[in-house]
Amino acid sequence: MKKLKKSLLKKYNLSDLDKLGELSRLSRLSVLELISVLYDIKAVQADTVTLNKELIQNLPTIKKLVKSLNLQIAQSKVKYIVNSPRGIFEEIPLKDPREGKVILSVSKSLPKAEMAVRYYHDKMLDSRYGRKFGKLMGYPDCCLDFGDYLNNNNKDPNNFGFKNPAIESLKRSKHFAWQLNVFTWSCLPYFPCSLNCSKSINFVNDLLTIIKYWRPEFAKEIIYYLKEPVSLYWSCVDRIFLFGNFKKYHLGTGEVKYSKVEVHLDSETYYEANDPKYIKMLHQIESKIKQGDKLIVDDKKIQIFKDKNKIAEFPKINQYIPVLIKPDKN
Ligand SMILES: [Zn+2]
Repeated sequence: MKKLKKSLLKKYNLSDLDKLGELSRLSRLSVLELISVLYDIKAVQADTVTLNKELIQNLPTIKKLVKSLNLQIAQSKVKYIVNSPRGIFEEIPLKDPREGKVILSVSKSLPKAEMAVRYYHDKMLDSRYGRKFGKLMGYPDCCLDFGDYLNNNNKDPNNFGFKNPAIESLKRSKHFAWQLNVFTWSCLPYFPCSLNCSKSINFVNDLLTIIKYWRPEFAKEIIYYLKEPVSLYWSCVDRIFLFGNFKKYHLGTGEVKYSKVEVHLDSETYYEANDPKYIKMLHQIESKIKQGDKLIVDDKKIQIFKDKNKIAEFPKINQYIPVLIKPDKN
């Protein structure tokens, strides 16, 4: 990833950035990644999006917007059915009536966009291609090494692999910079090698500089969610944000006296297969947290209090799951 040249901030006017916002809304590609491609911080972006009626209808406008910004777009020639948290399994023709996802890629260079579609496909079938993909995306080498480790090719049972990259980042961290808050709303298109990776921090700072120029209120909201919530975190789709006074024990454990709760438990809608026991436990914890005003998470258990009385206690899945965490570097 390249550093933003501050003198180029106004190279694009606000209406260009509005077009980019519209492109993101219609294509469901991340607006943060589109911004980083437009400003040459990142050479290319690629992601999977569901090919439904709406997207098919939007494609002509998407292509027009891309062209007007001097960008290029590439699309996979097949659809994919995602049927497990680990990634894509089944390739089906575009015409197949079943709903599937397509890979969309945007870059200033068409060959790069096409290559990104191919590498994305390859990495979904074999995780060893993840590095090739990440290199093309321009991710920092330190984080690419971390990505290799996450592949869990050595079958190390303590390596949660794809299941929990955020937890693996945490295990390698003494401190937690707010820019890299992968436990709330991450601004990064990858998982950082640690919660203090300087190259990743620079990337987020550059991105926020552009967003402040474009939509200051949006930048404020992003920063609020990076800095303020204490996250009770199981995985990137299951977390509960608590707002209040946090006291850290060690990174990943602590206590929070809270007055506001925001629930983001999305496994049921995100994955097609789930463990019902796990889902039930999440909702039990959610309901007790809503009744309480203080939460303590240590290495072994979760305790919930109301007016200083303990109203619930749950064992953790393991030492690291869930964590209770908030950045300690502001
Ligand atoms: Zn790194």
